[in-house]
Amino acid sequence: MKVSENLKIIKENIQTACERSGRLEDSVNIVAVTKYVSTERAEEAVEAGLLHLGENRDEGLVSKWEVLQDKPQWHFIGSLQSRKVKNIIDKVSYIHSLDRLSLAKEIHKRADRPVSCFVQVNVSGEESKHGISPDEVKKFIVSLKTYFNIKVVGLMTMAPHTDDESFLRSCFRQLKTVQEEIHALNLPYAPCTELSMGMSNDYMIAIEEGATFIRIGTALVGND
Ligand SMILES: *Cc1c(COP(=O)(O)O)cnc(C)c1O
Repeated sequence: MKVSENLKIIKENIQTACERSGRLEDSVNIVAVTKYVSTERAEEAVEAGLLHLGENRDEGLVSKWEVLQDKPQWHFIGSLQSRKVKNIIDKVSYIHSLDRLSLAKEIHKRADRPVSCFVQVNVSGEESKHGISPDEVKKFIVSLKTYFNIKVVGLMTMAPHTDDESFLRSCFRQLKTVQEEIHALNLPYAPCTELSMGMSNDYMIAIEEGATFIRIGTALVGND
């Protein structure tokens, strides 16, 4: 399927989810996750009107950036090794996987401007998942104060692979609760207004629970 055809379906679904939850459609940003696909396919996504592209490896991001440059905004969505920060830092608009102080330190050191970051939270408690546990998020974000090149725009989570809708919903709801707690602290470097949650299988539920950035690969650009 063409990206534009997939996008049409996804936009209809976004509209449905927004209607159900009384939200405005333009409060939901689509990050097209291009990690599985070619640069040509990523280019097709940009031509279809997608403004945000997401990659989870530095090599993938850099090789696509070399062709597409700053036509889309680039999101780094995968776990990020500190030594790879220098490869992507001047190319990305958002990092979705801030999960430790050593990484914050490296981003702060390498960036020449405040970088919009999502703090990754492991709400489901699965050991295989990266991220900070929900009860440590506040302490972590407070500890970022001196790293003025980090701007905490929101929180990100990866929900477990499951069809259990009520469990998914409770994960997303928990992230929203923590986001509101952090937002209420009024920290100048951590407005924390955004929620990066929802992928191909669960984005409608995520939108109903408040997602402002959904990260979609398979259902939008495919996975081969
Ligand atoms: C791969 C990936 C996605 C997209 O997953 P799909 O199920 O293909 O939509 C979203 N977020 C992260 C962090 C990913 O690594």
